[in-house]
Amino acid sequence: MTDFTATRARFDLPDGIVYLDGNSLGPLPRDAAHRIARTVTDEWGGQLITAWNRAGWMDQPARLGDRIARLVGAAPGTVVVGDTLSLKVTQCLAAALQLRPDRRVVLSDSGNFPSDLYMAQGLLAALGQGHELRVVAPEDVEAAIGPEVAALMLTEVDYRTGRKHDMAALTAKAHDVGALAIWDLAHSAGALPVDLTGTGADFAAGCTYKFLNGGPGAPAFVYVAPDHQHVAPLLSGWLGHEAPFAFDPDYRPGPGISRMRVGTPPVLQMAALEAALDIFDTVDMQALRARSQHLGDRLIAAVEARCPNVTLASPRDPEARGSQISFRHPEGYAVMQALIARGVVGDFRAPDILRFGITPLYIGEAEIDRAAETLADILDTAAWDRPEYKHRAAVT
Ligand SMILES: *Cc1c(COP(=O)(O)O)cnc(C)c1O
Repeated sequence: MTDFTATRARFDLPDGIVYLDGNSLGPLPRDAAHRIARTVTDEWGGQLITAWNRAGWMDQPARLGDRIARLVGAAPGTVVVGDTLSLKVTQCLAAALQLRPDRRVVLSDSGNFPSDLYMAQGLLAALGQGHELRVVAPEDVEAAIGPEVAALMLTEVDYRTGRKHDMAALTAKAHDVGALAIWDLAHSAGALPVDLTGTGADFAAGCTYKFLNGGPGAPAFVYVAPDHQHVAPLLSGWLGHEAPFAFDPDYRPGPGISRMRVGTPPVLQMAALEAALDIFDTVDMQALRARSQHLGDRLIAAVEARCPNVTLASPRDPEARGSQISFRHPEGYAVMQALIARGVVGDFRAPDILRFGITPLYIGEAEIDRAAETLADILDTAAWDRPEYKHRAAVT
């Protein structure tokens, strides 16, 4: 059982705001401010350089990795925290290609997040071995998994529509043809139960500032299945070295997952992430999933009943989507700005998607109902049709 009233009380949300953008930037856990303040004052201020040992800063990437491991169905010692998701996906892909040296195809889909595709393009070009990044429509992925594929590189939950891939089935299909499976969990970790061990995923990575609520700039995490931990890392930084403080001129990879570390960890960000993960210690991911599905269904029903001019962009079947609901409207950007002006915060994704993150840790039925009513009123009165709502900011 999970007490969602208790989890709600552990977030510091502004009064009067319905926050449906925790899929993009999770809100502030109340304890995070204290935790950061303590790290700044007692550890950085009071212990100075000795805090790397005394306050355990150096081991924090592994400790936080083990806490995230529980949320994504991974064993201790298979997850480590650091860097950005773009970099962690790249490390995974490089490792997978090393394990399949006689294959040249990386298979992904057009629903993948562009940064994952960009990083793959950059890596394949730098390798200069004639690899091809093959991008197919999400529904065509399964049929495109053939014996020429070295690695399947997918995001489990589509950032625009919330459509969810079947991780177990696609991983099994990849293994059947001798390919490896890399999963981006950006919209899965902290949003729904993930079973990396059970599905046999080879590599995975995710960010901690979305559903995990680690704060802006919080580090990413990376998972490497135990069988693959011997692979030499692409980014051979000193903190992934077997003995960083030996200052040996030659790189020797560290044991296990530690070799996926690169450089100095972001200590203040990790303090915030630690506070965010404390909340997850009280959460049963199956209960979270059930509540998310219920709230998502409720939003779809309320919006469809009152807003004839929006169309559902997410799967109607709750099992087929992650923890967001998206709708299309030709003036989606302006509509979202009008919603935000009335305290209902979602976001917009080009070309026409209104995106609402469903985060039961701090969102309940009352918030869902208010969001649907506000959207209906904005559409009924064309309140979105104002110049100031059409001016695009840099971050949408
Ligand atoms: C948010 C997101 C990213 C972001 O990567 P960063 O390097 O952390 O900026 C990558 N992939 C997916 C699928 C995302 O949703």
